[in-house]
Amino acid sequence: MNVLVINCGSSSLKYQLINSDSEAVLAKGLCERIGIDGSRIVYQPAGGEKEVTESPMPTHQQAIQLVLDALMNEKTGVIKSLSEVEAVGHRVVHGGEKFAKSVVIDDEVLAAVEACNDLAPLHNPANLIGIRACQELMPGVPMVAVFDTAFHQTMPEKAYLYGIPYKYYEEDQVRRYGFHGTSHSFVSKETAAFLGKNVEDMKIIVCHLGNGASLSAVDHGKSVDTSMGLTPLEGLIMGTRSGDLDPAILEYLGKKHNMDLPALMNMLNKESGVYGLSGDLSSDFRDLEDAAAANNPAGIRARNAFNYRVIKYIGAYAAAMNGVDAIAFTAGVGENDALVRKDICANLGYLGVEFDEEANNVRGKDALISKPSSKVAVVLIPTNEELAICRETVALV
Ligand code: ADP
Repeated sequence: MNVLVINCGSSSLKYQLINSDSEAVLAKGLCERIGIDGSRIVYQPAGGEKEVTESPMPTHQQAIQLVLDALMNEKTGVIKSLSEVEAVGHRVVHGGEKFAKSVVIDDEVLAAVEACNDLAPLHNPANLIGIRACQELMPGVPMVAVFDTAFHQTMPEKAYLYGIPYKYYEEDQVRRYGFHGTSHSFVSKETAAFLGKNVEDMKIIVCHLGNGASLSAVDHGKSVDTSMGLTPLEGLIMGTRSGDLDPAILEYLGKKHNMDLPALMNMLNKESGVYGLSGDLSSDFRDLEDAAAANNPAGIRARNAFNYRVIKYIGAYAAAMNGVDAIAFTAGVGENDALVRKDICANLGYLGVEFDEEANNVRGKDALISKPSSKVAVVLIPTNEELAICRETVALV
């Protein structure tokens, strides 16, 4: 079955057409600047050249039409007609408490996703626009919503409640939801499979370290805690997001610099993280590494603070699960940055981690990076959210 996987943002849209039998990506790409001047579509068929075409896309529907046209293009297309797209899997950011797993989309589901818009005002409305545009262009094709929050719905109350008046949970649904769920689910299963074990017999900590970053504690296949919260701002120090902080900082800085809440939130989301810590040097770990190698203290302090936060969370999650069998690194930084992995694992000896520096010189493929005698296995497992969405879609249609 061919599954079109769509990740729709407010002005961009990523897509992949995947054959679910072979799990091969037939074509992939993205549309950028939807609704803005200078929009363009990037299209790459498997084994072919990447094509970039400037084309007006005033709406998401026009963007998706261009994707379908590219997929069916006589010369470079990978399908002959629309009937070869047999299902569509949509990434949806927030499913609130309503969705603990992926679902086939119908009117009721759309209304329930819309009811979660308040919880993710930047993401859910864009996800809904993408779904509705696909429904218009591909009537009758089954569509599935795969939620970033769903995997973490198994967290116990003690992990998802904040220490604030309970009425804010009851009346306003303020609680920890967690994100990157599709990745944490995929990587925990792959980790167990790679180690020749059953995920239901293991305690796994997944370190999803990308521009956005989160950790999860996966106990016997279920997420029991994760570092992102009501929104993706909590937890680790990220590319440009602050992660955990004393909430009183908001009042203190707001008064001192006459900043209102939107300005403060912008600072925490866009100007903080390793970018802010490095004195606006960069949010990209490659630049921070170059800076650190040149003894630039800005690069060194940003990386050290990032690593330290991950180390603390690993300790917390080993405690939460009363043990850990495997620690998995994934996403842009986790898959590519050997030094970050090494510096984090240097503090995990107390857990029985025996790190293998030589095996750690690896990038972007499944690998064991601890010694065979290590009490806790440390692995690198590339994430693949599109494939995970494809698998979920096939399972439901
Ligand atoms: P997101 O999906 O949250 O945007 P990714 O998982 O794609 O993020 O991670 C992107 C980040 O990965 C980059 O900002 C960069 O810091 C890091 N990264 C990518 N390649 C490398 C590399 N070769 N070495 C170190 N870091 C890398």
